[in-house]
Amino acid sequence: MITRDTIEEKLSLTEGEKKWLANPSSLPLLVSDFFFSLIDKDDPEDPIRRQVIPQELESKVEDFLDPLMEVSYSVTERLIHHYTNRCALLTTDRCFTYCRHCFRRRFTGTSTGQISQEQIIEAVDYLKAHKEVKELLLTGGDLFTLSNDRLEFLFRSLREAREDIIPRLCTRAVATYPERFDDELMAIVKRYSYGAPFVLMTQFNHPRELNEKSINAVSRFIDMGIPAYNQSVLLKGVNDNVDVLEELSNKLMYNRIKPYYLFQGDQVCGTKHLRVDIVKGLEIEKELRKRLSGLTMPQYTADLPQGGGKVILTENYLKEVHEDHVVFETPDGEIRKYPR
Ligand SMILES: *Cc1c(COP(=O)(O)O)cnc(C)c1O
Ligand code: SF4
Repeated sequence: MITRDTIEEKLSLTEGEKKWLANPSSLPLLVSDFFFSLIDKDDPEDPIRRQVIPQELESKVEDFLDPLMEVSYSVTERLIHHYTNRCALLTTDRCFTYCRHCFRRRFTGTSTGQISQEQIIEAVDYLKAHKEVKELLLTGGDLFTLSNDRLEFLFRSLREAREDIIPRLCTRAVATYPERFDDELMAIVKRYSYGAPFVLMTQFNHPRELNEKSINAVSRFIDMGIPAYNQSVLLKGVNDNVDVLEELSNKLMYNRIKPYYLFQGDQVCGTKHLRVDIVKGLEIEKELRKRLSGLTMPQYTADLPQGGGKVILTENYLKEVHEDHVVFETPDGEIRKYPR
């Protein structure tokens, strides 16, 4: 594990990185040995490094701590109910590696700790009373930093209360700490794989994160019949490039992981230097859509400020609306009329 105390022994830091060390932001520096091993130490601009080694710019207090207004959508201490038919449960603030682009930094790495049994019961009681909720995101932090005992308690409580809810297992640990997914853990997952299906939600942002170990970890879920979906974040200097995103999507699909979302970086404090101009993002989306199949294309999505919710961002191919027809521009820039 690499922390603020050991980083200088392990990596020759840039000036900007040294300045962060002298004046750190609230999100801790923590990188697992495995994820650290993926960094090309000779490249200060390495895309893995940029995701986990903080820079001076991070300590700038701009933007918001909670642009999605998750606090105001919270219905229990740990449960967020923003969209009618799905909830998100903050199971822990801990991760095996902290991402410098984390949008939930109001909570992540704050030593809030793993969800207590009482908090699980409180959340489950809410779900019992709210039958309109059909899916539950088990998120954080990283779900799989929970102890096996607490995970088991969580799964059991949820299944006993609402077998019909689809739990989404949200984790970046398959990329950052694949050794977590050992036989003991997978046996727990398997024990509760009845009723509404589990779904695995991963976060891979760069093709290099897909390697033998991480792919094997994901495969353990898929071989058990649990489908995998990936949510990437569009990050400056990491993947704001059509070639990189094309390779990432193809590699995900080849390894049975469906590219689901490509998120525009939220307006969260300390992440501005990693955010991509939304207009550039749209250009990337347009070009990417030409190169990828429908199956491999993720949905470029923004979570609107002040809790406005998610909207899908895509080139608008519909250019004009007339009384008896509409006018489209094709992806190659040609004009086509379509009758109403
Ligand atoms: C993103 C999000 C969800 C899940 O939304 P999907 O579009 O179904 O993936 C649920 N709850 C909250 C609070 C979210 O931010
Ligand atoms: S794994 Fe998720 S919750 Fe943890 S730091 Fe990264 S983005 Fe934030």
